[in-house]
Amino acid sequence: MKLEGETVQYEKLDEAIRTGLFVRNSIIKAWIDGQVKSRNDAYKYCKILADNLDFPWAKKLNSMARQAHAERAWAAIERFYKNCKAKVPSKKAVRPRDDGSRKGTRTKRGYPKFKKYQVRASVEYKTSGWKLSEDRRYLVLTDKFEAGTFKLWGSRDLHYYQLKQIKRVRIIRRHDGYYAQFLIDHTREEKKELTGKQTGLDVGLNHFYTDSEGNQVDNPRFFRKGERQIKKLQKRLSRTKKGSKNRIKARNRLGITHLKVSRRRNDWACKAAQRVIRSNDLVAIENLKVRNMVKNHHLAKSINDAAWYKFREWLEYFGRIYGVPVIAVEPFNTSQNCSNCGKKVSKTLSTRTHKCPRCGYEADRDENAAINILQSALKQLSTTPGRGESNISGETGLCLDGETQTDKPTRRKRKSK
Ligand SMILES: [Zn+2]
Repeated sequence: MKLEGETVQYEKLDEAIRTGLFVRNSIIKAWIDGQVKSRNDAYKYCKILADNLDFPWAKKLNSMARQAHAERAWAAIERFYKNCKAKVPSKKAVRPRDDGSRKGTRTKRGYPKFKKYQVRASVEYKTSGWKLSEDRRYLVLTDKFEAGTFKLWGSRDLHYYQLKQIKRVRIIRRHDGYYAQFLIDHTREEKKELTGKQTGLDVGLNHFYTDSEGNQVDNPRFFRKGERQIKKLQKRLSRTKKGSKNRIKARNRLGITHLKVSRRRNDWACKAAQRVIRSNDLVAIENLKVRNMVKNHHLAKSINDAAWYKFREWLEYFGRIYGVPVIAVEPFNTSQNCSNCGKKVSKTLSTRTHKCPRCGYEADRDENAAINILQSALKQLSTTPGRGESNISGETGLCLDGETQTDKPTRRKRKSK
């Protein structure tokens, strides 16, 4: 979420970011000098830094934030140890010395480096040093840098979480401004009354999804709008000269539009998923191979695929919170078979209605598929007792600022153009 404040406030954020970097680099140096030998030493060293009058700024940073940066430093050191143990091959082959010492090979194994100044940098707070306003529209930084109150712009997902679930706040400086990222503890649980309803969902291009009762949720209009914008900007980019200023500008605009579209999509998918979970006791979906889907070159389809992927992630997330099983079934003839008698009724993509010659059952094609999905989920549950849950995939990569795995393939694709 973007932070809106005064220039003076941004300067204070810069100070805080610089201090975070200072803490990290100081600890790496102390490790090289042999003063820090463990994570605990690193924590203790934070205090030494804060008490050192030569570095008055170190004390200004919130004490838990100092620890967070000590953790970053220690993570870099640990990575190095691990690489050494695993004997990660170096990029340039370095002949081991005769005496077997590791000197000279160090840098090749990710020897912890001092970080230099970069525009893209961040400072991390844990559970103190900041406050959210009651309506969650303002963030106050309360440590001694006194950066003050910032208005929060962007995603409203923050409302879904309780304050005590926010474990860390990262202030990130980017080329276009300052952002706050909230890291959420995903162990939330909510009570939900049983609704006595089970549903199967069939996703498709015509409707975002159709459930097993025939209810349809359409694709939001902004999917198409975003698609048009991206197409236009892609065209514009392809017309610019390589290496020209206009090309950089065009690429930036395209990047920003991609980001915007994906944020809105995530927001929308989150709400749709929560609605489904709250009104059902069991949700069945098709186990679509998302990795292949996102690679798709057809833009409209790839936008939809990304939205489904997000939707599924949120379904599984809210499923865990509300204790609603979300069961993924293999997509095997779900749109072909008759949900009433099981006969395979072949149809092309353009056949919108399912008509069964054997039992006479007639339904919307997607509704028939949704019923099949629900039925195979229930079958799966009954034939493999206690194993139903195992189909619910584990950790999700859900993140509140819209930058998630799904966006990466599109970004890569864009670069190659
Ligand atoms: Zn039939």
